[in-house]
Amino acid sequence: MQSIPIKNVGDARLIDAFQRTYYYLRLSITDQCNFRCNYCLPNGYQPEANQPHFLTLSEITRVAQAFANMGTEKIRLTGGEPTLRKDFLAIAEQITQIEGIRQVALTTNGYRMAKDVKAWKDSGISSINVSVDSLDPKMFHQITGINKFDEVMRGIEQAFEVGYQKVKVNSVLMKQLNDSEFNRFLTWVKNRPIQMRFIELMQTGEMNSFFQRHHLSGKVLADKLLAEGWELQQNSLTDGPAKVFKHPDYMGEIGLIMPYEKNFCASCNRLRVSAKGKLHLCLFGEEGIELRDLLQSDEQQLLLQARIFTALQGKREHHYLHQGDSGIRNHLASIGG
Ligand code: SAM
Ligand code: SF4
Repeated sequence: MQSIPIKNVGDARLIDAFQRTYYYLRLSITDQCNFRCNYCLPNGYQPEANQPHFLTLSEITRVAQAFANMGTEKIRLTGGEPTLRKDFLAIAEQITQIEGIRQVALTTNGYRMAKDVKAWKDSGISSINVSVDSLDPKMFHQITGINKFDEVMRGIEQAFEVGYQKVKVNSVLMKQLNDSEFNRFLTWVKNRPIQMRFIELMQTGEMNSFFQRHHLSGKVLADKLLAEGWELQQNSLTDGPAKVFKHPDYMGEIGLIMPYEKNFCASCNRLRVSAKGKLHLCLFGEEGIELRDLLQSDEQQLLLQARIFTALQGKREHHYLHQGDSGIRNHLASIGG
């Protein structure tokens, strides 16, 4: 692994051994969630005894600053449910003010969106991804464990009202649950500026038979889209591993996130930091690198950057799902999806 002389750290950019550049950080600010999505936290959030607290506002600011110093331009706030944090707006405001950070995005389950989206916009959040696993309130309740479909839909309308030009909607399509809604989702985005993103169900350490029963290959969806006249777009820098499709008759777009596809990792443009301060180089199969001890004072910034850079040089070329590595060790609520 290449390590970096400390005097050169100030110039180091986030480029790995395979020449991939990382300008995008997914920053989890809490593991806590008030939903119980059956593929993520089926028993709800369970706080672990004697676990460290989530990163504080100052720790979050320092980690964001270090990534910005190394060329990161976009930070996504995620979780758990990030908007559950009482200091959520303060976090967003701090991060949007960091020099070099041009976009601060949010991934949310949308439960507070109708009420708070104006404040999110005012705090500088530039784009929103909201999860909607079903357009049928009963199925939404069945999947998420919570009866908030109407509130989430109102939140999306409200986001347009307060000036967001486009909203991204995430949905995990699963066999025998919501997969029959594929066409309904397409119709929904026909006249709405929504990028509908279908995320292929990923197997986590906490599910096995669930995955076998409900996993639906994204390839099946890609074939359907192509057969119906949707065209695959050239990836833009911000798409990352999503494959984006457009259709002349539709205002909305479709994004497919297919982690089990070959080459998924070639366009990887993201790093993750967990709510307890670990750097994750990949969603799959690694334990994370501790950063928290270097988030305690501003004087540690160069050491922090050196640790991040050195760790990045150990990032693998691709995940090993195809060679029998079963996938993510934990549920995605702990590293933000
Ligand atoms: N609570 C927020 C939300 O649901 O949007 C943010 C965190 S959540 C972990 C981020 C994304 O990960 C969501 O869109 C969710 O659908 C997705 N996700 C969680 N577990 C997943 C799994 N096992 N497979 C695929 N996507 C998953
Ligand atoms: Fe919560 Fe998001 Fe996980 Fe659903 S997917 S349980 S909303 S963290």
